[in-house]
Amino acid sequence: MTSTDRQQKKPSKSQKKKKKISEGGPFGHPLDNRPSHLRPPTEDEWRGMGRGKAFVVNNKRFRKGDDVILHDPDNDEENRWLAKIKSIRMRQTLRDGEVWVLVQWYYSAKDMEEIAPNFGMVGMSVHERLMSDREELLNAECFEDITWVYEYREEDPDSIPIPAGTFFQRYCVNTEYGTITPACESWACQCKIPYHISTPQWKMHEAKQARQQFYHENAFHSRTPSPMEVLGDLSHFCPRPECRAWFHELCLARKHTEDETTVSDISRALRLLAVDPDLQVPHPTFSRFIGQSPSGAKTFSSGLPLITRVKALKHGSQINLPDSLIKVAARPIVKRTNCGELSSHGNARDVVLARRLLYQELEGGHEFLIKLLSQLDVGWHESFSAYTHVWQALCVHRLLASPYVRYWDKAVSRRGTEVRAVVCPKCNGAI
Ligand SMILES: [Zn+2]
Ligand SMILES: [Zn+2]
Repeated sequence: MTSTDRQQKKPSKSQKKKKKISEGGPFGHPLDNRPSHLRPPTEDEWRGMGRGKAFVVNNKRFRKGDDVILHDPDNDEENRWLAKIKSIRMRQTLRDGEVWVLVQWYYSAKDMEEIAPNFGMVGMSVHERLMSDREELLNAECFEDITWVYEYREEDPDSIPIPAGTFFQRYCVNTEYGTITPACESWACQCKIPYHISTPQWKMHEAKQARQQFYHENAFHSRTPSPMEVLGDLSHFCPRPECRAWFHELCLARKHTEDETTVSDISRALRLLAVDPDLQVPHPTFSRFIGQSPSGAKTFSSGLPLITRVKALKHGSQINLPDSLIKVAARPIVKRTNCGELSSHGNARDVVLARRLLYQELEGGHEFLIKLLSQLDVGWHESFSAYTHVWQALCVHRLLASPYVRYWDKAVSRRGTEVRAVVCPKCNGAI
């Protein structure tokens, strides 16, 4: 295969963008008289072609369902051509066979400029892609490499973090009408400006300065923040099941959703602990601290550290949790662009798990677990049946495992950032 041949077999993404599905979809035209290897199969041909699970090009094995990088004649690093393999089929020719592949295109910020210019400009990170409704049939020679496009579920606090510099997708685009689903504000801030996982350093520097200037000017009451001011901002998450949304700190401060009931850092921590990630109602142990004039909070604001106060809430019983875990549980959930692995979901996983483990302890679950383990034979961890027994007990009683102290000691030492005390505009809980 010469380089000229390869160049001729490049995908025609830009042309296909405007081709409507009603005009024949991804299939070739019966009157197309180009050489076979340049002419996509017609719909009839495609139906009769043998199906395959994989093909090999340049020693790389491509399979159905893979996310792939396509050959791009412009070699534009910021706009790599990505698609998902939907189907692989073989067309028999006189000499041998040709592999043709049905792909569904991912669209980059550059592709979006033509379809929805405003969205592409402010809404997308360099590595973000939108799943489009455009399909195309490509010759196997167009395929360069296999990649992975992470599904970015912003609303799911248990999601694994998306590594920096990797491709991700959270929206789909209808390329004919430029509509984007789900709606940007489904789990993003009410300002409808989507969150960026990463952005070039120089731009981030500019964005942080713009945000500081907004605060300095005290512009909250005179105008809405610009996309650049919002880019430099922190986002706060409300983990309650009916909220599950991120809000820019700027937008919250603008709408007077600051946590004005803060009597002290301790009462703010107790209100944060009341926000249960699995129930809409506050956790009963902390519910008395959530009111506008929390009598409990006043009683508790006399200088005792948070750990001592939380332990006092268990009415004399011992709390078998590391102090570091309680400190993490009482943190607000925040994320910020360009924070590496913390930029996609921030500290959500740690804080949510810490709160669940703390609730389990307060409800006596941890004691049950310790009692259960004490009843097992010495060396039980070598026995598969003992593991099954413990696992079943955990499931029946809806328990989490016991906390690993070293993990929480490390988690609490992760660099914190200065955050404003704000509340969720949906449920009024501390976030
Ligand atoms: Zn906002
Ligand atoms: Zn909420």
